[in-house]
Amino acid sequence: MAAAAGQGRAEEISERLARVRARIAAACAAAGRDPAEVTLIAVTKTFPVSDIAVLARLGVTDVGENRDQEAAPKAAECAALGLPLRWHFVGQLQVNKAASVVRYASVVHSVDRPRLVAALGARARAAGRVITCLIQVSLDAAPGRGGAPPAAVPALAAAVAAEEGLALGGVMAIAPLGEPPRPAFRRLREVAERVRAEHPEAFMVSAGMSGDLDEAIAEGATHVRVGTALLGGRPSFVR
Ligand SMILES: *Cc1c(COP(=O)(O)O)cnc(C)c1O
Repeated sequence: MAAAAGQGRAEEISERLARVRARIAAACAAAGRDPAEVTLIAVTKTFPVSDIAVLARLGVTDVGENRDQEAAPKAAECAALGLPLRWHFVGQLQVNKAASVVRYASVVHSVDRPRLVAALGARARAAGRVITCLIQVSLDAAPGRGGAPPAAVPALAAAVAAEEGLALGGVMAIAPLGEPPRPAFRRLREVAERVRAEHPEAFMVSAGMSGDLDEAIAEGATHVRVGTALLGGRPSFVR
């Protein structure tokens, strides 16, 4: 059983959440968008279940994690506590972790190669679940952070849409390092629009983190993935 977060910690998270919600509201107002179009995903990696319970009590419904070894036990603990949460897997995913991830995740944001589509589909069918998949788009040429080049996205999207057990949700990206985020998010928006032209149901655009959620919302993000701004800094060795 998770220890309850202390009162001080709960207050800190509450204040941080209010600031993040105000930023989302301001970015939506500036873009002429309805804040109801933007879902806040609290990225809880490295933080304890007690913090997730605080977020859930404050109305957060969506949480994200990037490593299966950490996410699987945390999701199980939250389920045992009866917290009504939707889990998003946002990290690079190895094929051999697909069976575990489909048990708790509703959405996988990091689909970037055909083998992963096949593995997730097979494991989702075996688990009797339908997993929403986002195609992760690489917005720069730098290797290592995952993501498919924009030119590979249409074929991956078609593969997900054709795979029983998977539903195509849309696209995801991480802003490249060392360039302003807004033009990168504009490129993502173009990729998203091309996907939507073929698959009208695939409306999700997962973009924006603590440092750049405002620019992402300006360029059409429907899901922002926020860790540090909600929960504070992580140890520096955790990406
Ligand atoms: C950790 C992480 C986030 C959250 O980043 P912050 O800068 O802490 O808000 C978002 N997306 C992915 C894929 C992550 O791994």
